[in-house]
Amino acid sequence: MITGAVDIGGTKIAVGAIDGTGRVLAREETPTAAARGFDDAMDRVTAMLNRLRQQLDAPMRGVGIGCTGPVDPFRGTIGEVDFLPGWKGANPVATLAARMHLEVAMENDADAAALAEAQWGAGRGRKSLICITVGTGIGAGLVLGGALYRGVDGAHPEIGHHVIDDTGPACYCGGRGCWESLASGPAIAARFALATAAPDSRHQDLSTQRICELARAGDAAALVEIARAGRYLGIGIANLITLYVPELIVLSGSVMDSAELFLPTIREVIRRQCGLVPAERVELMPSMLRGDAPLIGAGVVWAHRYGWERA
Ligand SMILES: [Zn+2]
Repeated sequence: MITGAVDIGGTKIAVGAIDGTGRVLAREETPTAAARGFDDAMDRVTAMLNRLRQQLDAPMRGVGIGCTGPVDPFRGTIGEVDFLPGWKGANPVATLAARMHLEVAMENDADAAALAEAQWGAGRGRKSLICITVGTGIGAGLVLGGALYRGVDGAHPEIGHHVIDDTGPACYCGGRGCWESLASGPAIAARFALATAAPDSRHQDLSTQRICELARAGDAAALVEIARAGRYLGIGIANLITLYVPELIVLSGSVMDSAELFLPTIREVIRRQCGLVPAERVELMPSMLRGDAPLIGAGVVWAHRYGWERA
């Protein structure tokens, strides 16, 4: 038996087949091309799922979806998502269920990644973990007592938009100085470009990955920005430790591929900020599933909803 997995992002949609041990047996990708419309994307996803099913010649027990942005996990609808213009209210769960004749479940992609780490990754055997993804944005999922934490009406808590500095940059969510607007990849790159604008034009338009490379090579300006970003990352992580004291915090996403650069500052902020909780007992670990977490997570979403005994 395989589980179909669909990871819907702003740039691409990944489709995979996951086995009962969390391995990706086969996968395909397509550009999201949101402007071509929701139906067009679902046509492509359906074709990919059917191809994988044929290719592996295995029965598919169901389909799990991880989707960027606010989603209603029980109605199966997509909310107001910047990266998916015109898709608001669209229902990938009902659409794929009708086309594939299978049960389908959906969660926010950060929650899907957290479920994957809890089930098959760094969080195996842990009761509580928070999985943080730092890349283009900051997403986080909370798995407490083995279950995904949900807010009222199934709402996904938007940890990337908790406020670190209310005099900080304006964010598209309406707030100022959100964690994401201070510590995501684009936030780091924009601040570095601004700080180095006058003296050295070689530092313009660099990706966060490139800034990390410069820091490793000892570039002074890059090291200053890494320390600043580490402080912002650290404040957010320390806030989560104070609020939840989880057993484990998993660090994933493209920025966290360079976690070793940020961790000394992050640990220093935690030591300074988390005086009332046993912060030293909270482990910080890199993602074990790395880039595969959202896709594997989409498969876990199905089992988390419909039960492992059928998975
Ligand atoms: Zn925000």
